[in-house]
Amino acid sequence: MKYLDEFRDAAAAKILAKEIQRTISKPWTIMEICGGQTHTILKYGIETMLPPEVTLVHGPGCPVCVTPLEMIDKALAIASRPDVIFTSFGDMLRVPGSHEDLLSIKARGADIRMVYSPLDAVQLASARPDKNIVFFAVGFETTAPANAMAVMEASRRNLKNFSILCSHVLVPPAIDALLSAPEHRIQAFLAAGHVCTVMGYEEYFPLSKKFRVPIIVTGFEPVDILQGILIAIQQLEVGRCEVENQYRRVVSPKGNIPARQLLATVFEITDRAWRGIGKIPASGYRLKDSFSAFDAEKVYNVGHIVTSEPGTCIAGEVLQGLRKPTTCQAFGKECTPEHPLGAPMVSSEGACAAYFHYGKIRPMKTQSKMN
Ligand code: SF4
Repeated sequence: MKYLDEFRDAAAAKILAKEIQRTISKPWTIMEICGGQTHTILKYGIETMLPPEVTLVHGPGCPVCVTPLEMIDKALAIASRPDVIFTSFGDMLRVPGSHEDLLSIKARGADIRMVYSPLDAVQLASARPDKNIVFFAVGFETTAPANAMAVMEASRRNLKNFSILCSHVLVPPAIDALLSAPEHRIQAFLAAGHVCTVMGYEEYFPLSKKFRVPIIVTGFEPVDILQGILIAIQQLEVGRCEVENQYRRVVSPKGNIPARQLLATVFEITDRAWRGIGKIPASGYRLKDSFSAFDAEKVYNVGHIVTSEPGTCIAGEVLQGLRKPTTCQAFGKECTPEHPLGAPMVSSEGACAAYFHYGKIRPMKTQSKMN
């Protein structure tokens, strides 16, 4: 399959691993910011192919993991209402709030439905004028255009019974916050290719310059990741710190301009709390006032929610690359995908779930193709 098989090719991966070995002369720590890349690294055993001088740390790029507790509790309050059908992607249903999760209140009778697209929720609003339909709009710049489109479509259809609970987060301010933390040990970033597909990568130039770190736009297949690591190490070894694009088959410097225009029409930048990390200035989207009729927080007046984070989970440290999931005392014991204590064990992009599922990695040398 073009653009897929060649990026899972074991021979190509081995050549890249050898080139990394040949290039490296001292220890370097690199963060992949995206949970999808974390899963590729664990699934294909990429860390086992790298020389010991390379340390990979995993970043906060899992949308389910960083959705703030306050938003989960607001979702629970709205979804409990008898006049509401609450819609969401499946991962969000099991994320623990202060006291329970969406699946628990669904079991008690709340009308909560899993959808595959926000436009499905718009369609449901059209079909069920007797109910109010709310969509839980979470995620990074990648998912935001589809949610903006759903709001535009609901507006075009003049739907009065559709709204979104908006909790979008943005990558560049998170990188800024991570690199501003005194305890950080990140020397280079693999930037998430799909975010850059929408936003391009010009936003990363000032960050790379300010913190003197290479930022490599990187795809999601094993060969992509190894190529991204190689480019980062080539820069680090000679003291360069630039933005480079490994994912050229998909990403252009300015990204998807119609999608960015749509985002600018519907959303504005706001401060946003990241679960486990805290508030990061200008790191989220909220609906513009001109679309406030579609803003579930305003429609259902849930601004007063008081949260309390359960105690044992160290997700905040995991999401900032300060601890590996396996150093959490609850990992694989009290906390498993069946009984998660924190969002990183729930989500299909969560670092704890990646370590749990792919702990027994497949060695490269036994495979002709990595699939
Ligand atoms: S293993 Fe579970 S409790 Fe520990 S950090 Fe991950 S999600 Fe939290």
